[in-house]
Amino acid sequence: MKILVINSGSSSIKFQLLEMTDESVLALGLIERIGEKEGFIRCILHPETREKRTIERVELIADHKSGMHKAVGILTDSDTGVISSSADIKAVGHRVVHGGEAFHQPTLITDAVLAAIKQNIPLAPLHNPPNLDGILVAQNLFPGVPQIAVFDTAFHQSIPPHAFHYALPYELYEEQRIRKYGFHGTSHKYVANECAYQMGKSLERLNLITIHLGNGCSMTAIKNGRSVDTTLGLTPLEGLVMGTRSGDVDPAVHAYLARNCGMDIDSIDGMLNKESGLKGLCGMNDMRDIHDQIASGNERARLALEVQTYRNRKYVGAYLAVLGRVDAIVFTAGIGENDGVVRGKTLEGLEIFGISLDPVANNQRVKSPVLLSSKESRIQVWGIPTNEELAIARESKTVLEGC
Ligand code: ADP
Repeated sequence: MKILVINSGSSSIKFQLLEMTDESVLALGLIERIGEKEGFIRCILHPETREKRTIERVELIADHKSGMHKAVGILTDSDTGVISSSADIKAVGHRVVHGGEAFHQPTLITDAVLAAIKQNIPLAPLHNPPNLDGILVAQNLFPGVPQIAVFDTAFHQSIPPHAFHYALPYELYEEQRIRKYGFHGTSHKYVANECAYQMGKSLERLNLITIHLGNGCSMTAIKNGRSVDTTLGLTPLEGLVMGTRSGDVDPAVHAYLARNCGMDIDSIDGMLNKESGLKGLCGMNDMRDIHDQIASGNERARLALEVQTYRNRKYVGAYLAVLGRVDAIVFTAGIGENDGVVRGKTLEGLEIFGISLDPVANNQRVKSPVLLSSKESRIQVWGIPTNEELAIARESKTVLEGC
C-alpha cells in the first residue's frame, strides 16, 4: 500500500511517498518558494537504495496546485518515476498543525472536517490555511483517494484541565478557546512508541519525558502512554528556548514594549517568534554555529547555550514532579539527536533524581534508537530519531484500515 504524506506550508510543500508493506521511502521531496519568480523543486527517488536519484529544477511554481502537479509528474514519469500512475497512491496523509479541541485522533477528511480545520484558523493563522491548501490540492489531484488529517495537537488532547487552563478570565476559554494545546504531538507520540518498543514494554505502562529539540523545541510529560502536559501552548511559542522563538517570558513584556518602545502587536509577535530564542541572545540559531563560536570565545554564544539548557533542565524537574515515577527520558530532533553537549547540560546535576548519562554513549550523533544513560541510572535516557512522515503514514494507514 503506497501512502503519500504532505506537509504543506505557506510557501513550501514537503512530501514523501512510502510503501507501507515494508515502510520503505520511495521518494521524498521539497517544493519551495511557491509564488516567487524562481521556485525550486527537489525530488529524491529511491532515497534508501543504490538507485537513488535526485531531480532538481528551478522554475516558476505559481501556486500549491502547480507545485504538487509537478511533483506528481516526477513521481509518475515513465523513465524515472517510482509509480506508474497517481492511482497507485491509496491514501494521502496531511500534517495539520491545529486541530483545536475537535480532534483527538487522526481523522478521515470530510467536508465537516475541512470546516472544523477552517474554524481553527484564528488559533494557527500561519499554519492552518496552507495545510488546508495542501488538502484541497490533493483532493483535486487524487479524486476519490482517502485523505487523512494528522494533527500536531491531537496527542496532547489528553492533557487534563488543571494543566491546559491558563489562569485567565474563564470566559476567554469559553468564548475564544484560549488554553494550552501543545504541538509536535506526532513526534512525541512516535518517539514514545519507539522508546516503549526498545524497552520491551507496553507504552500504556510507561511514564516518559520526551524532549524534542529542533528549530522548534518542546517537552512532554507522558503518563501511562498519554500526554499529561507539554511546554508549547496556545501557539508554538511557550516553554523552551527555541531557534528563533523566545519560549516563556513574562507576559507583561508585551505591555512594556507597547508602552515604552512604541511597538505594535504585530512587531512584538514577530520579534518573539522570529528574532528571539537562541538567535535573539547571540545572533545565531543553529546550534552547530553556536558551538563553533563558543570554541572561539564568544560569550553571547555561551550564554545562549546556558539559557537554553537551563530552561530544559527546569522543565525536566517540573515534569519529574508532574509524573512522580519516570521510566525514561527521550531526546529527539536535530539538536536532541545530534548534540551530546546539550543533552549533557540539560541533565547536569540530576543524578540525585536517578538520572545519569554514560559519557561515551552520550558523545555520539544518534542515527537509530540508542541508550545514552549509564548502568547506574534509575531512569533510562534514550536518543531516538524522530520521523514525522513515517508517523503520519502509519497513522493514515490505521485510519484507512478502520474505515
Ligand atoms: P525542525 O524543527 O525545522 O524540524 P530539526 O529537527 O531538523 O528542525 O533541527 C534543526 C536544528 O538542529 C538546527 O537548527 C541545528 O540547530 C540542529 N542541528 C542539526 N544538526 C546538528 C548537529 N550535528 N549538532 C548540533 N545541532 C544540530
